[in-house]
Amino acid sequence: MRILIVEDEPAMVELLRYNLESEGFDVSSAQDGEEAMLSIEEQTPDMVLLDWMLPKISGIEICRRLRLSSDYRNLPVIMITARGEESDRIRGLDVGADDYVAKPFSPAELLARIRAVLRRHNPDISGDTITIADVTLDLVAYKVNRSGLDLHLGPTEFKLLRFFMERAGRVLTREQLLDGVWGHNVYVEDRTVDVHIRRLRKALNSNDGTDLIRTVRAVGYCFEKG
Ligand code: CA
Repeated sequence: MRILIVEDEPAMVELLRYNLESEGFDVSSAQDGEEAMLSIEEQTPDMVLLDWMLPKISGIEICRRLRLSSDYRNLPVIMITARGEESDRIRGLDVGADDYVAKPFSPAELLARIRAVLRRHNPDISGDTITIADVTLDLVAYKVNRSGLDLHLGPTEFKLLRFFMERAGRVLTREQLLDGVWGHNVYVEDRTVDVHIRRLRKALNSNDGTDLIRTVRAVGYCFEKG
């Protein structure tokens, strides 16, 4: 899981980064709202930790913008702030933040909140299996089943399907798919993604199921929640 920290105080970024990385999260950071929006567009994280007090655009404004955008409406956001008053908390939640942590907070408290929000956003991921619509992916046995029938997928299609299902409902660009499935340092042509999507679709739809992978023209693909 990738978390984007949006915070202008370097010491705070380092503290957060240290705690999140030791829990196994991938961490990136942005110093202000503009950098944050660019980073989110380039590689959408699984969650944003958003400081309220930022130069230029405030955290509240960034959160509001994310909620108004069709692509990032569902992106999990936890607001972090020095302001602990009830009215601020309500304002943060009003603009669509999923949760709110006031400084100073303990790393354990923040991690618990992060996990709770991620669980809420990914209710279908439970330990060893992911189920979305009528598709179940078994991460241990490496099996995929649709409406009770086993499907036969190649290793790349399996990874691709897992990547999609863990981000169901979100539009993913070819670049995000390339990075997530093939890795950052591998040179693969965009066309390769399309070839594997075609194979994955063929396998998923082999028993006349509805097509769960939506093509978003000029952008990429989305695994529908059903
Ligand atoms: Ca700040």
